[in-house]
Amino acid sequence: MTYPGVFCNDCGGAYPKDGVPYRCSICGGLYDFRGGLQFDQTQMDRSQPGIWRFRHTFGLPPDLASVSLGEGDTPLLWSEAMGRRIAFKCEYQNPSGSFKDRGSAVITAWLMSRGVSEVVEDSSGNAGASLAAYAARAGIKARIFIPESASGPKRRQIEAYGAVLVPVPGSRSDVTKAVRQAADGGTVYASHAYIPFNLPGYASAAYEIYEQVGKMPGAVIVPAGQGGFLLGLARGFDALRRIHKKETIPKMIGVQARTCAPLWALCAARDDEAGLDTDGDTMAEGVRVRDPLRGDAVRAAVLTSRGFMCIVDEKDIMPARNALARLGFYVEPTSAIAWAALIQMVDRLPDPIVVILTGSGLKYG
Ligand SMILES: [Zn+2]
Repeated sequence: MTYPGVFCNDCGGAYPKDGVPYRCSICGGLYDFRGGLQFDQTQMDRSQPGIWRFRHTFGLPPDLASVSLGEGDTPLLWSEAMGRRIAFKCEYQNPSGSFKDRGSAVITAWLMSRGVSEVVEDSSGNAGASLAAYAARAGIKARIFIPESASGPKRRQIEAYGAVLVPVPGSRSDVTKAVRQAADGGTVYASHAYIPFNLPGYASAAYEIYEQVGKMPGAVIVPAGQGGFLLGLARGFDALRRIHKKETIPKMIGVQARTCAPLWALCAARDDEAGLDTDGDTMAEGVRVRDPLRGDAVRAAVLTSRGFMCIVDEKDIMPARNALARLGFYVEPTSAIAWAALIQMVDRLPDPIVVILTGSGLKYG
């Protein structure tokens, strides 16, 4: 079967019945879902754990076994902050320590359905660690291309899962070039950025938030590099809005570091501003993405929700990390930019505000 609802953005070609191309096999364009995600309460399977309750929204073959490490069902915790009651969605409590697991679980199940036994990916961060975890769970061989200079806990985590690391000299784009060569040579490129099958997995966080808050939030604040999690959340809330017709979707607030803020520049339509052409260093390494692939879709999702993008100064990131830790939430600096954004705009946002805590502080250093 095809992956239902997935088409090329450029030529409109449907995702093929065989193979796992990461971009359109006809024109090279980007694949994406068309027509929104379908959420149907009567089809929810409450016997399944975590995100798999929502598997009817994933578009997977019904008889396909799930691949799970216990992702999803993360806590939503309320805390007093800045005179308001703020909700924190603790995505860092996912199995590999980040929200990426919601997408990796769906991607890996999809790979299994196509008989894939070996994949490549290019991330030295949370996406690489997450994919390595699910590949280990499914018995898929993973090769992860990383910059030669990458080090630290995430690299060690990827290695520990048994993935083969392929260090590439040069810049981040040299790494992407190398992994594309491997993909063009026939190995499946299980890219969180290119292939869209992680997006319905990310949307499961929106369904959980709706259940936990008891209604649509007023605003959701989330760090954005590629903007995939923001996009998945927005599509999840949109699917809910179509069945809860009297409610409106939350304002989606995406957060970037000022030194590398292309989505912010795109949403503000200020292409002369700093941010669009920079690739500056930032301790928020997880959102340092110079050319987000789905920028137009992210922009549409943000603006449709009456939300906006926000940028955070470097000097505000570590104090934000520490402020969250004082509330008991130990997250990585990339995640803490959501708190720094909250400080900037708390008075402008409607209740209830949900802050997404994307990645674990144990991975930083
Ligand atoms: Zn195409």
